[in-house]
Formats: sequence, structure tokens, C-alpha cells
Amino acid sequence: MLHYTARIEPDIAGRALRGQVSIRLALRSEGVQQLEFDAGELEIEKVSERGRALVFEKAEQRLRVRLPQPGKSGERHEIDVVYRGAPRYGLEFHPERGEVYTIFSTSQWLVCIDAPSERASLDLTLTVPSGLKAVGNGRLVSKSALGGRRDSYRWRQDQPMPSYVYGFAAGRYNEAGGTGENGELRFLSAELQGPQLRKLFADSADMLRFFGRRAGIRYRGTYSQVLVAKTIGQELDGFALLSEAYGREVLEKPEAQGLIAHELAHQWWGNMVTNRDWGQFWLNEGFANFMAAAYLEHRFGEAAYRERVDGWKRRLDKLRESGKDHALVYANWNKPTADDRAVVYQKGAYVLHLLREELGERAFWRGVRTYTRAYYGHSVTSADLRQVMERASGRDLSAFFARWVDGAEPAPAMASKPDLAK
Ligand SMILES: [Zn+2]
Repeated sequence: MLHYTARIEPDIAGRALRGQVSIRLALRSEGVQQLEFDAGELEIEKVSERGRALVFEKAEQRLRVRLPQPGKSGERHEIDVVYRGAPRYGLEFHPERGEVYTIFSTSQWLVCIDAPSERASLDLTLTVPSGLKAVGNGRLVSKSALGGRRDSYRWRQDQPMPSYVYGFAAGRYNEAGGTGENGELRFLSAELQGPQLRKLFADSADMLRFFGRRAGIRYRGTYSQVLVAKTIGQELDGFALLSEAYGREVLEKPEAQGLIAHELAHQWWGNMVTNRDWGQFWLNEGFANFMAAAYLEHRFGEAAYRERVDGWKRRLDKLRESGKDHALVYANWNKPTADDRAVVYQKGAYVLHLLREELGERAFWRGVRTYTRAYYGHSVTSADLRQVMERASGRDLSAFFARWVDGAEPAPAMASKPDLAK
């Protein structure tokens, strides 16, 4: 059990923030004396429990809190942390747009547990200057005016989610909307106007329907798409951040909406069916890429899908030629190179395409549905995927997974150097 109740107040012009969080947790083992949290470069001011100050230390982005006495397994605690920070990443400030938004690295703005296998519910109050529009996780509980021309937005997400999909965006946005499958659609941008936003995100409702069918679980709640000053694109719980530049590109070229579909697909594959650790990241990113291509196939026809597949294959060929092919699963995912990212994103999607060809339409999509439903709200590994796909197809996939998921093509033998010393 893990729950965060947090209050965050960014200072957009000052590129800083103040925050406080109550972390509710239950101890997992006997005799625990120290709790550990991720706290990025945040400066911790005070740690307490029920008003009683606790001893803590901050070292290497970790906050260690000492319990007054060894705890028992299952024992509940609620730790209050007051902090401030001026994060260099994790939170983007664009004062010229009156804008602030999160960009992964949640522990740079919220003291939390970063590991993707830890899921927690969240109650977040964000205080921003009056007149800004804001988007957050879960449902909006209240919006209230505070003194000093400030507004507070409070959202609550009761579904436990991994902390890396926590976030918010606030800015001087124009807004348009639509109706999704089971909730509202919101489109926001500081640069595009309502009609352009409706055109840009015209397919969002269809995407939600399509992925919901493929997942065997319908999307529920509001889904928001926000164009921010700059990002390569990122999924958060209940919304996506895309860049204004990308938005303009898609307006010109609707076929470029693959990234919109990719981020939307993460609402299932990534956010709800989550890689157990970052070494299994391909289960998030390969899936999102593959599902986006499947959507393009549904929307624009098979050629659009094939074009994607050919692109993945070309990237994989390049990896192999340069000896940079790697198993989809990584022992550790610290400091990945561009080639490592290509393995996870492109080869990952390509391998799902190969699996689709291998199993045929019926068995493959039945497997995807079973996998998604079985692990919805949980962590996954490649072995979990294999087991489900084997059951769905009645096939032994050990050779396929050994070759494509756990294995890599050996580096090509170097041509021997010409012998100059004749
Ligand atoms: Zn992604």
C-alpha cells in the first residue's frame, strides 16, 4: 500500500518549486529502521510523522528517514516531507508562455519511489498563477481561488499508478474538447486555436476506441492532449504532452500522427501494463510503437503499417551492420545510447510484428487481449508475455523468444586487416 498526498507550488519565473508530501505506506518486512525515497536534487527541509520530527539524511538523490524504533511487517506509517527545489530537469519552466510542466523524473519535483514496479494512488494539489489552465492525473476534485492571484487545482487518482506517469502541465492555453469513449477529451495549446486543435486531434476518439478493443479493456475517464513548448512527446496518466511544433506538423500532414497514437497507446501498454524494471522497457515502448502502427493500418490502410515495419527493419539492419544489435531485455538501463533506444523502440516493435506474422491474426490479437487484461494494473516481464502468447496460440515460443527477445545477432566478423608487413 502506497499513497501520496502532495501540494506543489511552482515558481514559473524563478524556475523553482516548493512542495510537501504525505507518504502513506506499510512496511514490507520485520525490523525496518530506515525508509528510503527518491528525491532527485530536492532540498529537504523537514521530515516528520504525526507532528514529530524524524531524523533524515539526503545522499545521492535518495532521502533516508530513520524510524524512532524498528518497525513490524505490515505496520503503517505516514511520513510528511517538506521540500523545495530548482530542478534542472524533470520540470520545465517557460516563463514567456507562463508555462510549467513535468517531464518524467518525477522525483525531481515529488519525493516518491521512482521504481516502475511500485504503484501508488495520488492526491495532488497544484498551485499556479490565476488564469492558467492546468491538467493533472485522475479526476479534478476542485479548483479554488487563493489569495495573491493564485489558483489551486486538486486532482485525485485512486487507481494505483507508477510514479513516472505522474505529472501536470499548466499554461496560458487555448482549449477545445470532444467526447471520448467513456469520458471527455481535452485539447490544449498556447499557439493553436480551437478549430485547429479539433482538427489536429480529430482521431483521438477513434484511437481510444481502437486501442480499447485491442486491449479488451475500454478507456475510462478524461483524456487530455497538451501542446507544450518543447518535448519529444511523453505519456502521463490520463494525458499526453506533445510539442507545439509537432502539432503544426500533423496539421500539415495527418499521416504524421503516429506519435499521437504512440502516446495514447501508453494509457494501456506502459501506464497500466508496466515494465517491471527499465531493463524490460521494450514492453512499454515496443508495444506503444507497434500499437501506433496498428492504428495507422486501421486508419490509413496496410501500406501505412508496412511503411512503419520497413522503417523498423532498416534500423535493425543498421544495428546489426554496426555490431550494435542487443537483446530486447537489458540487464541495466543506465545511460542508454541512441542504439539502445533503437533496440527498445524499433526492434521491439518489429519483434511484435514478427510475432503477429508468426501466430496469425486471431491468435496474436487474442494473446494481446489476454496479456493486457491479465496484467492490467500490474508489472510485466518478457516471460509473462511469452507465457500468455504461448497459451493463446498453443505454440511453444521458446525458440522465437530466445532469438528475438533474449538474443541478438552477433557482431559481424571484422574483415581482417591487410597485412602490410610483407
Ligand atoms: Zn513511448
